[in-house]
Parts: sequence; C-alpha cells; structure tokens
Amino acid sequence: MRAALESHTGMWFGWSGTTTERRTSSTPDISEIGPINLVTVDLSADEVNLFYTVFANRSLWPTLHSFPTMVTVRHDAYRAYQRVNRKFAEALLPMLEKGDLIWVHDYHLISFGRELRRLGWTGKIGFFLHTPFPSTEIFGVLPAADELLRGFEAYDLVGLHTARYKQNLLDALSTELEGEVEGSFFTGSERSTKVGVFPIGTDPANFEQWSLKAEQEQADTFIQRLLSRRSPSPRRPKIILGVDRLDYTKGIPQRLLTFEQLLERHPSLRGTVTLVQISAPSRTRVPEYIRERERVDQLVGRINGRFSEADWAPVHYLYRSYTQPELARFYREADVCLVTPLRDGMNLVAMEFVASQGPDPGVLILSRFCGASETMPDAVTVNPYDSEGTAEALYRALMMDGTERKRRWESLMSGVRSRTAISWSEGFLDELSATTSIESFQPALAEVAGRAAST
Ligand code: UDP
Repeated sequence: MRAALESHTGMWFGWSGTTTERRTSSTPDISEIGPINLVTVDLSADEVNLFYTVFANRSLWPTLHSFPTMVTVRHDAYRAYQRVNRKFAEALLPMLEKGDLIWVHDYHLISFGRELRRLGWTGKIGFFLHTPFPSTEIFGVLPAADELLRGFEAYDLVGLHTARYKQNLLDALSTELEGEVEGSFFTGSERSTKVGVFPIGTDPANFEQWSLKAEQEQADTFIQRLLSRRSPSPRRPKIILGVDRLDYTKGIPQRLLTFEQLLERHPSLRGTVTLVQISAPSRTRVPEYIRERERVDQLVGRINGRFSEADWAPVHYLYRSYTQPELARFYREADVCLVTPLRDGMNLVAMEFVASQGPDPGVLILSRFCGASETMPDAVTVNPYDSEGTAEALYRALMMDGTERKRRWESLMSGVRSRTAISWSEGFLDELSATTSIESFQPALAEVAGRAAST
C-alpha cells in the first residue's frame, strides 16, 4: 500500500496502534511520511479488546477462513465493532474532499463504508477483502450476519482474491439480502455493487535483489551458519522451509506430521533433510493461538526426540520473525518450500519464495486451499489434511530433477513478475475509478452536524 500511496499521493487512515486507558475521541492525529499523509485515531483498551481481539480476530477471522468451531459469538463484541467503524467514519469524513477515492481494506472494516454513507458521503468507495470469503452457511455463524453483509452494499466495488470467493460473496448477498445478482453486480435497495477478482501480488524485484545479495555472500551463508552447529558434516542437508505467522489457519501441526511421515516412510532421508520452520509470533494473547503454539512446541519436541542423532536434528524451529531481506536468504537456500495452509486468502510467502530463486531453483509445494493455488498452477499442489499424500509429494519434490524444477519455476516466475503488488493496486483503483456510482442513496450530512450541535 505504501508504494501505491506514494505514486498517487494520498492519505493513509486507520488505527494508530496506540491503546489508551481513557475514553478516546474521534479526533485524529495527522503527520506526514514523504508524500503520504498519515491520519490515525487511538482506541481505548476496551475498544481494542472487543472490536479487534474478539470480533475481528476471534469471530470474523475463523468464520472467513471456514473454521466455524473456532468462532466466538459475542453480541457485545459485534456492537463494539460497529461502534469503532462508526468512530473511524466520523473521524475521516471532515477530511474528505469531493472526488476523493476511498479504498477500505480488510475484515476489520467491513462496515466502514456503510457508516460513511450514513454520514452522507456519496463519493466512490472500494473495499478489498484480504481473506477468503466462505460459503453462506458458514458466514451465517456470525451474530448479525445479514447486517454485516449489508455493509458490502455500501461499496461501489468489492475486490476478492479468487473467483471462488467472489461467487461465495455474491451467493451470500443474494441469499440473505433483498436484491439481485446480475453478472458481477449485486443491486440492492441502495446501489449497485460490483464484485471483482483481483489476485494480489508481491514485489518480486526486491526479493530478487535481496536473495542475489545473499548468494554473493555465499562463503558463510546464513542458513549454513545456522545449521553448522548441528550438522558438522561437509554435506549440507537438503532444506525444507516453512514460513508463516503462527496461526491455526496455516496448518503448521499438519506440516510437522507430514514431515514425520516422510521420515517414517523413507528412512534413507534421515540425516539428509532438515525442516526449517519459521513461525512468527502472532496474536499471542488469544487463547486459540496459545493452544496452537503449545501444539507446535509439542510436535517439534516429539519429532526431534524421536529422530535426532548426535550430529543432526530433523526440525530446526524458529519461533521469531525475520525481516524480508533475511527471509530472502532462507528462500534462496531452501530446496523445497512447504506452503500448506488449511485455508489462506492468497499467501505471499509462496510468491516471495519463487522470486528469490537462483539458477538452481527449489520446488514450491502449495496447499490447494490457498488463493495462490489458483494463480500458481505449476506448484506441486497438495491437500494438507492428507499427511500421507503430502509426504509423498514432498518426497517427489526432494527427488525432482533439475529440468523439471526449472520448467516449473520459469512458469511460476513469469506469473509472479506479471502480477505484482503495484499492478494489483493499479488494477483495483482503475476499476474503482471506472465504476459509475448510482446515487439513489440520500445523503444525511445533517447527522454529523446534528451530533456536533447537541454535544
Ligand atoms: N513475514 C515477515 N517476517 C516473518 C514472517 C513473515 O516479514 O518472519 C512476511 C512475509 O514476507 C509475507 C507476510 O509476512 O510478506 C505473510 O504474508 P502471507 O500472505 O503469506 O500470510 P499472512 O500472514 O498475511 O496470513
């Protein structure tokens, strides 16, 4: 988003990340980073807890990723979500000028557009959902699911990563709300909303540059240094890499079980392969994430206890986050990258791995349940719930000859180069600019003034 804002000059608006104990007002802080105006609003501890931790991360996140049994249903949290969306809209409205394009991002702010419309904004608003959109039945697990869906109606353009998510959203809108779907449009009581597919990309040039630099410093590379403590043998083990936030949607336990299966089924690989799993800490106070971490810790301990030898440990587990230039080094040196989420909107790690490969490229193994599997058909596709099948795919990837690795990588890389973060944002903004707003909705600017006068 930063690159897109720099090329368009614009305003970034959102939560400051600061939590205050006292009640907060809607008055924003304004600062500048180069050509970008940064406008932020503080939230109180209560707002962060109910809006962000509970409703966004414990209700919406598992619902959108189709984990209904993980969903926390709390009406107070839903009301806080709506209140915070309203507060953001009230803070932004006085700063808007006629002709401004507003682009709202992600599941925390589904209702933001509707709140802006309530305050009278009739200009264009687009929304992009960075997660999957589930089937109508699963979305129905949420409290006030239909009211949330009505939030989508406020936008001129709604973007999703894949054709499947788009279809799921159109189905939910036409099933739960009054209105009609015609092609890519949903026409409700207030306006026509276009729903489009915009698969996000990465910034391949950066990863190419960082990883090349890593290779030029080959004499004592990062991973070799890292592994040499455990593997003094001159033959470097093959590296299987996993890079994820520690999130239950990423399927890290299933990946560890797959690796365990690999070592069981192919004893000749013991001592010759190492799984390097980077798990960046995420939402560390949320109970579901605490349990996931315990499960991963336990499995790593079990596998290492079971298979380790004096000079080799099968799993090298790194519970910390790395910068992207550091990650590029891991990507470059990996023989296989295991991207096996149980569900994922898109997955950027898959693209970053491809962009970081050198002349002897590694193999990408990709879950069929992430958005990237639609745009990266030359990856080795697996079902992450099937440890046995995935272990065999992993074995084939480790044994794959150079010609096939190169053929797959060239095709993947051409996709990664043609679909970048910049082309994604340009594509969305061009389409948003081209939509014709149907403004049957009556502005209610008086509401803001009315409130100001009465307080
Ligand atoms: N990432 C990072 N440091 C880490 C782990 C991940 O900077 O230690 C970055 C990674 O480069 C990627 C992003 O986090 O750009 C993860 O995006 P992805 O779409 O794969 O998953 P998400 O975390 O958004 O669900």
